[in-house]
Amino acid sequence: MERLSTLSRSIVGHVAIITGAASGMGRATARLFADEGARVVVADLGVGRVEAVADEIRAAHGPDAALTAVTDVSDPLQLERLVAVTVEWAGRLDVVVNNAGVSVLNSPFMDEADFESSWSHTLDVNLTAHARLVRLALAHLLESPAGRIVNIASTEALVSTAGLGAYAATKAGVIGLTQSLAVELGRHGITVNAICPGPIDTAMTAGIDDESKATYARRRVPLRRYGLPEEVAHMTLNLCLPSSSFVNGTHIPVDGGMSIRHT
Ligand code: NAD
Repeated sequence: MERLSTLSRSIVGHVAIITGAASGMGRATARLFADEGARVVVADLGVGRVEAVADEIRAAHGPDAALTAVTDVSDPLQLERLVAVTVEWAGRLDVVVNNAGVSVLNSPFMDEADFESSWSHTLDVNLTAHARLVRLALAHLLESPAGRIVNIASTEALVSTAGLGAYAATKAGVIGLTQSLAVELGRHGITVNAICPGPIDTAMTAGIDDESKATYARRRVPLRRYGLPEEVAHMTLNLCLPSSSFVNGTHIPVDGGMSIRHT
């Protein structure tokens, strides 16, 4: 059938690195991208966890659909290797989804050692790794017909919770980084956007009991529930479509309306 429109909503054959892809939103994103015909690089900690997700994808879409890349994103050498194995495997790189993240307590009431370690680890994983991976991937993204970067921030960048100083700082930093990269890379046809998920049911929120989640959702979220990882993955996919070519430098809440609620 002849198409009447020019902009494609297909990412068939595109190659995407997804960090933190062994769990939660990263896993949902890897599976969704593969369902849509992309080849995905599953990057995360722990060989068994990474293999499990890559195996799910290969079982559904064949042996070439996923690459296992055990990667600690806080280590610059491992990020360098991640890009190298991706290009060796696929010969191209179109999409980087900076999703890996940690949420640990960080407060001025902490003793010095705990404060310093929680601060620096959160910055390394949630912010510095994003900037480094973009730098390392850039030469390949420049060659893509639809280079796309999606950074996963949080509504904690917009509204705040006590005891999450480092987390909030990194997520606000992700928005700043996204905007600066969007301005710098736009002229090269690469778009850079961020997503601010609200409360989502993943391993990161698994420690909160169901009753507390339900109470929070009822009071704070207009949709009165936690979101599913797949609901965030679909926004990431939207931003990576060739047809999203004029969406650049945004940060989009995927939060059931939580961040715009007044009373
Ligand atoms: P998750 O815990 O299920 O997944 C996070 C993944 O990141 C894990 O698989 C973990 O192993 C990986 N990771 C952590 N440190 C890493 C490192 N050094 N190197 C490589 N991988 C590492 O949690 P999630 O909720 O799916 O989190 C995904 C992203 O969404 C994070 O950036 C998180 O901050 C953000 N987020 C989560 C929520 C929520 O409510 N769950 C809300 C807003 C934003």
